[in-house]
Order: sequence, then C-alpha cells, then structure tokens
Amino acid sequence: MKILFWFVLVLFLLSGCQDNLSIIKKAIPDKLVVLSFDDARENNYSFVAPLLKEYGFGATFYICEFPDFADTTRFMTWRQIKELSDMGFEIGNHTQSHIDLEEASAKELVRQVSYIEDKCQNWGIDIPSTFTYPGGRVGNNIALIKMLATKGYTFARTIYPDAYNPLKDNPLLLPGYCVHSNNLDRLSEFLGKARDGNIVILTLHGVSDTEQYRVNTSKAHFLNLLKYLKENDYSVIAMRDLNKYVDVKKAMNLINIEEEIERIEEINIEPDY
Ligand SMILES: [Zn+2]
Repeated sequence: MKILFWFVLVLFLLSGCQDNLSIIKKAIPDKLVVLSFDDARENNYSFVAPLLKEYGFGATFYICEFPDFADTTRFMTWRQIKELSDMGFEIGNHTQSHIDLEEASAKELVRQVSYIEDKCQNWGIDIPSTFTYPGGRVGNNIALIKMLATKGYTFARTIYPDAYNPLKDNPLLLPGYCVHSNNLDRLSEFLGKARDGNIVILTLHGVSDTEQYRVNTSKAHFLNLLKYLKENDYSVIAMRDLNKYVDVKKAMNLINIEEEIERIEEINIEPDY
C-alpha cells in the first residue's frame, strides 16, 4: 500500500513538471533580446528602422495616437507605419490614445484596442497580436487582460523591471526594462540577465538629440546599444517571435494572473512617459 502511495505521488509530481516544461516549445538560447519601441515617434521611422535593418535586428513598434499625433515632425504617419510593417517589423497595439487604464471603462478599453486593430486592417498591416500597457501599468485590470486573451493576443508587456521567465511569467504580463539616456549605465546589468532560460525585453521610445521627451535615448547611445548587442552576439527579435519558444496557451493556463498582478503592483513602477 505504501509503495502504491509513493508511486502515485511520484507520477503526480512528474506530470506537474511535464506541464511546466511543456510551456517551452524550443530551447531558449542565452542572449535572446526582444526590442520594442513605444509611442509611434517619428524618429522610429526615419532613424531607428534603417539602422535595425542594417544590423539585421527584429523589433516591434507599439502604436498609439497621442492628441498631437497629426504633428508629423514628432509622430509617424500611418503610411510610415505601413512601411515599417512592409520592412518586416512587427506593429503592436498600444491603445488608441495611450489611455489611462485605471480610469477607463471596460467598453472604452475594447474601443481603444479595436481602434488600432481597425487602423492596421485598413492599411493592410497584420492585425496586432501583441500589446504594451500605456505607462507600463496594468492596474488591477484583470478584465483588460481577459479581453486581450479573448481577442487572441499572445504577449503583453508591462515595465515591471525584470527578465522574462516563461515558466514564471504570464505571457500577458511580461516584464520589461525601460531604456533611455538616463539609465544606460545599467544596460549591461539588464542584458546580463538574458541567460538560463530568461529573455530580456527592452523598451525604448524616441531616439533623438533635439526633441525634449523624458524617455528619449540619444542617437549616440542608441548606436552604442546596437553595437553592443552585435559585438556580444545577442539575438534581437520582435515580440511576436517569442511564439517560437513559448506555448502561449499552456503558459496562460498554468500561471495565475491574479497572483502575478499582486506581485507587480507591490512594486512602485514609474510611468514610461
Ligand atoms: Zn507609451
């Protein structure tokens, strides 16, 4: 009887391990980095994208329309966003107006997320399958996360500062490091975490030497980042490419969203803009 008990217990534990391990579809190499750019800044098109092409790096551009979106000296036009998509970059959803997620009604959130999807569809851009929370904050918004899951979103990023561990983090609550000119001294610390099954997700905004925007990165700093990634053999991919490595459905089912939100909300995160 005792032997039977231990046998059943071992089988039970093994099946749990199996579930967890089966989240990983393909072994995650060390030095895997996701590069993302939020807020549709004009320099993402004119300066960033050509350099990424030159370096052979993937990236995701997360689009929203700030109230002064029509100012084409500061923000990309939809024609330019379509060009980025045609160049092979991923276009992601950052809500229509960079909405305050804590204030918005469920109905308004659906409208805001659908707006960017409709724009993409009208411009012949793949409908976004990944998302970034405006300001990096999720609040206590489980309804939003469930809405994203229902709409078929696979990955969504906060700016909770940590590396992404697919066995621990829900795909709709990804951590990410916000990089700008004021914290570049910490870049090698962030990138050093891309090992042992962890992936580093970097978030940038504008890359400019002239525009006053708190989270901008200077052109020289950005070039240094690209060189560092290249010279140190990092693989630089778009967010959607994580699908090759992670079984999203299994990860969503196994990792509890409510517990993760509590963990993230305990940390005081500065908004990303
Ligand atoms: Zn943003």
